[in-house]
Amino acid sequence: MQYVIDPSPASTVPVAKTESLFPVHRIYCVGQNYGDHVREMGGDPNKGSPVFFSKPADAVVINNQSVDYPLSTNNLHYEVELVVALGGGGTNIGINDALDCVLGYAVGIDLTKRDLQAAAKEKGRPWDTAKGFDQSAPISAIRRAEEVADVGNARIMLEVNGEVKQDASTKDMIWNVAEIIVELSKYYQLKAGDLIYTGTPSGVSAVLAGDFMRAAIDGVGELTVELK
Ligand code: MN
Repeated sequence: MQYVIDPSPASTVPVAKTESLFPVHRIYCVGQNYGDHVREMGGDPNKGSPVFFSKPADAVVINNQSVDYPLSTNNLHYEVELVVALGGGGTNIGINDALDCVLGYAVGIDLTKRDLQAAAKEKGRPWDTAKGFDQSAPISAIRRAEEVADVGNARIMLEVNGEVKQDASTKDMIWNVAEIIVELSKYYQLKAGDLIYTGTPSGVSAVLAGDFMRAAIDGVGELTVELK
């Protein structure tokens, strides 16, 4: 047997300080995971159950590449996020086993068409067109977990054209990395190759063509993206 068309090439992310590439299986995302961001979006930050959505694997954009201003939006927002890269997986993963699934961490930007998301929220419709579009998941190189000192208490920041827009700590996450893996594995069979974008702190706003974004998480890495 042979393919009727050429199969799509795997999406990959470099592993920092190595020649290795991380092949992306799926991209999961957590919404509303920092209280101050939930409040800025008009929500209630009390810990209920986490909000999950996803992006296609080929939405990744690696560090230092540009992103074309996307179709059908007039309000494109950045969201800096800690990204978890899985080297293992499973279903119904226990809290004490969750971090054993983690291969490493990266800095990501969850690009969001806020106008389409607001319309979807208002009508109770899915977020897919607002979140899962082409080039919507810029990501830095992956730093292996054993090289990251304290992912649960690290400065996370994003600047646009040199001006700081988001500046917080990962300790303010409502659901920490282990808890996210536990919850997500109740719904999906997690696998090596999965990426999890873990939510953004406050300070989100719009970017325009020509803007330059720099995102960083202490001890994890740095990501730069030019919007064209
Ligand atoms: Mn997000």
